Amino acid sequence: MKHKHTVICHVCGGVAVVCLEKEINVSCGDYFDGCRKYSKDIGSTPLWECTQCGFASFKEVADWHEDRFRADIYNNDYYLGDRPFLEERPKKLAAWLTAALSPCSLLDYGGGNGQLARLLTSQGFEAACYDPFYGGGGLPQISSEVVTAFEVVEHVPDQYSLFREMASLCRRDGVIIFSTLLKTMHLKDDWWYASPRNGHISFHTKKSINLLLSRLSLHHHSLSREIHLAAFTKESLMRLINIKTISISADPLFHFTDRWSALK
Ligand SMILES: [Zn+2]
Repeated sequence: MKHKHTVICHVCGGVAVVCLEKEINVSCGDYFDGCRKYSKDIGSTPLWECTQCGFASFKEVADWHEDRFRADIYNNDYYLGDRPFLEERPKKLAAWLTAALSPCSLLDYGGGNGQLARLLTSQGFEAACYDPFYGGGGLPQISSEVVTAFEVVEHVPDQYSLFREMASLCRRDGVIIFSTLLKTMHLKDDWWYASPRNGHISFHTKKSINLLLSRLSLHHHSLSREIHLAAFTKESLMRLINIKTISISADPLFHFTDRWSALK
């Protein structure tokens, strides 16, 4: 497919080019199970990668109306493509946060049905959940010591608005803890994490996340390729840079070349 128009990178303003065409109905779960979780092929969409900062976006999907997201992505079958979403991941994250932090006020941004916040509350945290996609009412009116956002960033088209909003919910001496798997600067092959069926549409590199957060006057430190910290002050950041990190997703065993093949 030829793409004659130009796409400008949302993060740095650089020129983006198509690095991959991906089937819209392919999910991350396909790579872990080695089979299609959604059998229907509803067409492909290009992944646009910035030539300067490496940020990548399924721009055409990112531009969908909210109604289409609800119909084609966040519908009753959503969990097929991300099975750990409901129980396993919140449990793992709650155990990690309980070991890493003292009980504090914490807002889980984009926390789905609120399972992580409930688990943390039972461990003495003053935890709440806010998720615009779960219709969870308006923005909380108080700011928290810790704002968490696990596997949220890659779902959001407007990265500046997202981080501005999360920062507005965080205390000046607080910390934002978020996860998103960073991509390599230039994708040379398919990448399991870039799967539109999961609602994954925005992908950062080390360079693009650095640039975005510094433009928002936030200090930043990555604990791993998946887990990242942001804070208004260096002192707040320093308090957490030595905490033990956690792995959210293992590497999948399959890849999507000539349909499904096991990795050698
Ligand atoms: Zn860029």
